[in-house]
Parts: sequence; structure tokens; C-alpha cells
Amino acid sequence: KHHLPPDRVPKESDIELVATDTVRLRVPSGSTAVLVKNLYLSCDPYMRSRMTKHDEPSYVPDFVPGTPICSHGVGKVLDSGHPDFKVGDYVWGMTGWEEYSLITSTEHLIKINHTDVPLSYYIGILGMPGLTAYAGFYEICSPKKGEYVFISAASGAVGQLVGQFAKLMGCYVVGSAGSDEKVNLLKNVFGFHEALNYKKEPDLNKALKRCFPEGIDIYFENVGGAMLDAVLANMRLNGRIAVCGMISQYNLGKHEGVHNLLALIAKCIRMQGFLVSNYYKCYREFEEKVVQYIKEGKVVYIEDIAEGLENAPSALTGLFAGRNVGKQLIVVARE
Ligand code: NDP
Repeated sequence: KHHLPPDRVPKESDIELVATDTVRLRVPSGSTAVLVKNLYLSCDPYMRSRMTKHDEPSYVPDFVPGTPICSHGVGKVLDSGHPDFKVGDYVWGMTGWEEYSLITSTEHLIKINHTDVPLSYYIGILGMPGLTAYAGFYEICSPKKGEYVFISAASGAVGQLVGQFAKLMGCYVVGSAGSDEKVNLLKNVFGFHEALNYKKEPDLNKALKRCFPEGIDIYFENVGGAMLDAVLANMRLNGRIAVCGMISQYNLGKHEGVHNLLALIAKCIRMQGFLVSNYYKCYREFEEKVVQYIKEGKVVYIEDIAEGLENAPSALTGLFAGRNVGKQLIVVARE
């Protein structure tokens, strides 16, 4: 409905559900647009940044009040002026939070090759969060068998997969999450060696020392703030930190300081941020590998499914309260 100040948690009432009866069910002639029926829509933490108006252009454009929210989604092609997409194809890419979308910017629209896995996976394990886990872990963390790996927001869309990749590589894997239910998932469904509920740990430094008596080689950073400081104090020589996200800072406006950065020098740590958008060139390689892992039962993926657009505001705002258990998505239609 409106732009949010940078220092406020989004509320459901910031988003308005509007009924319209004007649906164009054809692509205009001569256009290369694609008309899709939206099936699944994604809720992602970076969308918080788009809710605030920025003076300088950000890496993603700000939302425009009064127009549909946009995010990644899975859709079925109803009409197409584009030679790469045919009626009946399933696709994933940027779409609108609406029942039908006319996608005019098809540069990042991807045809779904495997329809024998759940289609919703294409906004999760086989979509942007999955590619984030893949590129972030294999490219940025430079992992080796036997290393000690820590992941924050570990039960979420990205974290659950990073942990499973690390286990497949033969690493020792620990994750943090914000509830006992999530900790249970980490240990008993995703197969992490250990997990901690950070909300129940009065001293994060001590908690990490307990889980990693010999220190951490790799930290996959999703939350920032106090967790990052505690991790820095527990890193090993030549450690790597992949800075994927810092969700604890997204609603603060003025970001918290980090105190233990000197550890980077003494322990020769490499700390590197990355954006998944720079890795779409590896998408097909990633897709084939992870589809195989899914079919062989080498990885599992937990989704938190909200039914219907009417539940979309609560699904999106729930990310910032940790209400989602696994990848948060919205079902608009199943077919
Ligand atoms: P999740 O599915 O993990 O959902 C967000 C989770 O963050 C919540 O469930 C909650 O889990 C946790 N959280 C919320 N608020 C806080 C807080 N104040 N302090 C600590 N934890 C909090 O999200 P994703 O897996 O989709 O994203 C994970 C991270 O990766 C985010 O930071 C996101 O911005 C980033 N990202 C970066 C990309 C890139 O290209 N660099 C691409 C995609 C994602 P809990 O209950 O455990 O607290």
C-alpha cells in the first residue's frame, strides 16, 4: 500500500488484497511477452528492502505502491509471443502477486525441464534459494572434506540445503535456528550433526564453543548481528565466511556494529559477500545435479505452504518473525 520506513518490521496491513475483473487473457500481437497463470509465489527476505523507498538505486528496484508485489514464481504459460516458451510450458521467474501475469521482461524467465518433481521446488530447492545455497557453498566457501561448518537460519530456504551439501561433502555440520521445532528438523530430517536454538542461548560464544571445541572452518552467514560476532570469535585459521544475508539487520534502519572483525587478520579469514544473480550461468548444471540428488533421496526439502493470495501478507511478514518452517511459499493455484 505504501513504502515502509527502513526501521520498521513489515505488517500484514502494509499489503492490500485488491479484486479486479480486468484480465487480459492474450499476449498483444507482435509482443514477445508471456502470459502465465501463477501457481506458486515465493516469499524471500530480500523483499523487505524493496518495501522501502531508496534515494540511490539498490540492486533490486523498490516496489511501487498500488501495483502488485513481485517475486519469483512458478507459472503455466497460457499464451506466448516468445519463441522459447510455448502454451502449456511451466516456467519460473519474476512474476506478480496476482492470479495471471503478463511477463514482458523474459530475460530471466526459465523453462522448467523436470515436471516429475514438485513444481513448487522451482521457487525453492531448484530455484533462486537453491542456487544461492549451491553457489554460496561450493564457490564462496571453498569447502573440503572433514571441515567444520556452521550455518545460521539453517532450517530456512537456503540454510537447509547448504547443510545437506556440506554433509554430502563429508563436513561436520551445525546449524542455528529460532525454535526447538526447527532444531529438531535440522538434526532429525536434514541430518545435521548438531543444532542450537539461538533464542535459548544466553551466551552465543559459549554455545559455539560447545558445538565446535576446535573452532569453525566455514560460516554460512544468513543473519548477521550478534551471531556474526560470536562466530568471528570462534573461527579457525584460514576460515571462510560466505556472507549470504543478514536478516537480523533488515528492519533496523541503522545497522548494528560488528566488534570482532580483527579476527579476520589474525586468523587469515576470507569473508566474502555474493549475489545469486551472478550465478545464473550455472543454473542448468545446478538444476541437473540437484534434481538427481532429489531423485536419489540424497537431499530433502521442507516447504511451508500458505494457501491462497489472501494468506500472502501473513506469509511474507512471517519471515521476519521466524514463523516459517522451511521455504515459505504461497499456492495461488495447483494446475
Ligand atoms: P529463511 O527461509 O531462512 O527465512 C528467514 C528466517 O530468518 C526466519 O525463518 C528466521 O528463522 C530467521 N530470522 C528472522 N529474523 C531474524 C533475526 N532478527 N535474527 C535471526 N534470525 C532471524 O530465508 P532464506 O533462506 O530465503 O534466506 C536466508 C538468508 O539468505 C537471508 O538473509 C536472505 O536475505 C539471504 N539470501 C541472499 C541471497 C544472495 O544472493 N546473497 C539470495 C537469497 C537469500 P529462525 O526461526 O531460525 O530465526
